[in-house]
Amino acid sequence: MGELVHRLLERNASKYPRALAVRWPQGDVSLNWFQLNAEANSLARYLQARGFKPNDRAALLVSNRPEFMVAYFGILKAGGTVTPLNIKFTASEIAYILQDSEISVIIYEDNLRSVVEEATKGLPHVIAVSTREMSGLMEKYECHNLDLPLNPSSLAEILYTSGTTGKPKGVMLTHNAVTLVAIMMAYEADIYFGDRCLHLMPLTHSAPLNLILVGGTWAGATHVLGSFTPQALLELTDQEKTTHFFGAPVAYNLAAKLPNFSRYDLTSAKRWIYGGAPMPRAGLDTMMKLFPGGFMGVYGLTEAGPNGTALHPHEHPRFAGSIGCRGSVTAEIKVVNAGGQEVAPGEVGEIIIKTPSNMVGYLNRPRETAETLVNGWIYTGDLAERDEYGYIWIKDRKKDMIITGGVNVYPKEVEDVLSLCPGVADAAVVGIPHPDWGETVMAVVVPMPGHQLQPEEIRQFCRQHLADYKVPRIFQFTDVIPRNASGKILKHVIREKYSR
Ligand code: ATP
Repeated sequence: MGELVHRLLERNASKYPRALAVRWPQGDVSLNWFQLNAEANSLARYLQARGFKPNDRAALLVSNRPEFMVAYFGILKAGGTVTPLNIKFTASEIAYILQDSEISVIIYEDNLRSVVEEATKGLPHVIAVSTREMSGLMEKYECHNLDLPLNPSSLAEILYTSGTTGKPKGVMLTHNAVTLVAIMMAYEADIYFGDRCLHLMPLTHSAPLNLILVGGTWAGATHVLGSFTPQALLELTDQEKTTHFFGAPVAYNLAAKLPNFSRYDLTSAKRWIYGGAPMPRAGLDTMMKLFPGGFMGVYGLTEAGPNGTALHPHEHPRFAGSIGCRGSVTAEIKVVNAGGQEVAPGEVGEIIIKTPSNMVGYLNRPRETAETLVNGWIYTGDLAERDEYGYIWIKDRKKDMIITGGVNVYPKEVEDVLSLCPGVADAAVVGIPHPDWGETVMAVVVPMPGHQLQPEEIRQFCRQHLADYKVPRIFQFTDVIPRNASGKILKHVIREKYSR
């Protein structure tokens, strides 16, 4: 059973009004559930006064601070849909989304005024509301709950995919979908009233937003907000005694490398959650000792809520690197061949997911929706195989797989080897067109500072670990690999750059 997302906030405000809802140590702000709900109610009334109606769409360009939560719930209370935007977006990236999703209101952080002015230049109908305007609204607008006749099957969010596989697409999620994925996460990650969720990853991404912010709200947990640095992860866990954190695996690796790591007390942690990429097996034993409480992997994609699988702490010693063996409590998962049949262990197929939190579709993109959502199943584009125990191991994304001379090469496998090569700081592998082979394997390599790497040196290293057809034929050296906000390599950018 789903629910209107903002009802979770209203329920907390009436059940435990004085319990701490949100802490923002940087600005020294603390709000209890009653205050957070009251502020969101006043904002909703203010938006109504400016002409915002149910089913209108609002964008949210605010970093991890209390105003993000006030605005997120306030927009929903006014009956609107929320489209969070990454604060690092350029004016043209913002303008693309404002137009694509026909946004009528943008709520933005004060210091981002100039980028918003630039983005809305050709869009006079877009009303821009700054976080400064939000303060003091309770003096002018009533703060009790609104009573709009809203339906849980209406849209709550339009989330833009980060565009690692092409132009960002708007994923439409209903209130039902968002609350169901939140309940799933609270259950899978043991989030309870009294717990404290630490948010350092941008809340604009579906995982921190729906899994932890809405999931934690469902559980009545406190939210501690900040922005990521490895130091902040350790400091805030220690000072704020947080219990749950979500970040990419690299966030933990960076924190583990800090020289003053042992100064911090991390024993309040119940789960260190990661997603977006598998946890590397190398060094896992050490990592498990450094981070008490247990790692939990989540696999999913925005199109599914994000929902999919979970890899629990007790499964890590044996199966870290895999995404788990079953769907989450509200998801079914299969690995299928081109004919839709489940593949045998050791055979590669595509992961498909069915959940009540699946998207309605991509906004204004019926063709892409029909390709991705087939008979209620999301075709993830992730290629994977099950092992003899049923655990699923991702090989790579379908769109990134290289076919050279008729054989398949999974770039991720080659990148994993390159990451172990002495002198290599970072690397990405893509296929580029080749007149005889269809495609050929190309590696883009960032050398470690002070290293003069020669292609032959890296090739030799690769030959020791990879079959010859997987060894990159072309090497390009660069200073930085293009990545999106969640750390994923932008392969299409690399392919475009070097295929010219
Ligand atoms: P786009 O769809 O535009 O490429 P994106 O990659 O950021 O954007 P997300 O929904 O954020 O889209 O990411 C989902 C993808 O991330 C999955 O399809 C999968 O490839 C990868 N992924 C997510 N969790 C894991 C995990 N635990 N292990 C390995 N890969 C993961």
